[in-house]
Amino acid sequence: MSTKTVFGAARRGLTKRAGDLYHQIAKRSLMSAATHPELLRDALGRPLGQLRVSVTDRCNLRCRYCMPEEEYHWLRRSDLLTYEEIAQLADIFADAGVSKVRLTGGEPLLRHDVHRLVRLLAANGRLREIALTTNGVLLAQSAQLLREAGLTRVTVSLDTLRPERFLALTRQNLHDRVLEGIRAAGAAGFERLKIDTVVIGGLNDDEILEILEFGRSIGGEVRFIEYMDVGGATLWTPDQVIPRDEILARIERRHGAVEPLPPDGTAPAERFRLRDGTCFGIIASVTSPFCRTCDRSRLTADGMWYLCLYALAGTDLRGPLRRGASREEIAKLLAEVWTARSDRGAEQRREARTRGPLVTIENLRRDPHLEMHTRGG
Ligand code: SAM
Ligand code: SF4
Ligand code: SF4
Repeated sequence: MSTKTVFGAARRGLTKRAGDLYHQIAKRSLMSAATHPELLRDALGRPLGQLRVSVTDRCNLRCRYCMPEEEYHWLRRSDLLTYEEIAQLADIFADAGVSKVRLTGGEPLLRHDVHRLVRLLAANGRLREIALTTNGVLLAQSAQLLREAGLTRVTVSLDTLRPERFLALTRQNLHDRVLEGIRAAGAAGFERLKIDTVVIGGLNDDEILEILEFGRSIGGEVRFIEYMDVGGATLWTPDQVIPRDEILARIERRHGAVEPLPPDGTAPAERFRLRDGTCFGIIASVTSPFCRTCDRSRLTADGMWYLCLYALAGTDLRGPLRRGASREEIAKLLAEVWTARSDRGAEQRREARTRGPLVTIENLRRDPHLEMHTRGG
């Protein structure tokens, strides 16, 4: 079957240049589908399996655990990778073994026409999962378009069911819009809909059971995330972390013993099932890090490649790409960098004797790449 027949429908609606690139990627993808890429392994034996792509460092919320400051230094617009550049890099990453891409930010839906990028990525048959993490504010108007473009999974961040608390937490009165976005995602029929909740002691930990019930009611699966001391979390203190065991104990007090489920590949969440069949997960990045199986790396909107959420330095991929490096040269660079990777940031943070925020405000201002909202969560 020709690539034209297979991908013709999905190509509709693209500009000529994007359409040509789409066709090239689709063709390469079909040609290489029969041959399995030799998986790259890092220094700890971990493959390169997932790529998180931050498409913008901008955000329409100011969550206190991520962007608590009044002002930020933004990436230069001219430095942002175009969708075509991101798709080209993703294709080279697919050669190296990446099969899952997650679009994130900042708030990814702030970037114009993200469905265009999804369509380009969906042309790549080796990327079997194309996911999005969003705060949901702009999701209602784009959920259907994203689904049609080939997005497979959506995760919406939701830390509270109370509008006034949402305002205090994010500095924006947009709680209704997020709930509307979640409903639209439910109706659009994604393979999977998840709700991510960062649990912070004294802030929203009294809503664990309600949020679990909300997830069940919308047919989504909740992930409770321990509050991490990453990048912009300058207000982080250890006493605000509600550990995995405590989250589990509170759920078991209400619902009885929960059944642990087998791990979902290399996904960071431990999954559990309640007696009524409701499934949920806990991401215990602080008290029980999962660095040993971590196959994720991150690409910022301006093309810096980071091997760990906690990494203080990254590799510039935009420079070589814009200077006209061949795909073989970029593939070689990826291989050199990944095979030397020994990052296990969260484990090392756990071993640290005294613990406060990872990076000072002064250093965050000097290098916005250290921010969580720049490198994507
Ligand atoms: N803006 C989008 C959103 O909020 O879903 C995508 C980017 S955001 C950086 C990705 C994820 O990182 C969100 O689920 C957010 O809750 C999580 N996150 C940000 N700061 C965090 C922190 N200090 N600890 C744990 N998770 C955090
Ligand atoms: Fe909140 Fe996501 Fe924006 Fe960070 S990037 S402030 S987590 S919405
Ligand atoms: Fe992976 Fe780094 Fe997170 Fe550990 S801390 S799981 S190595 S991204």
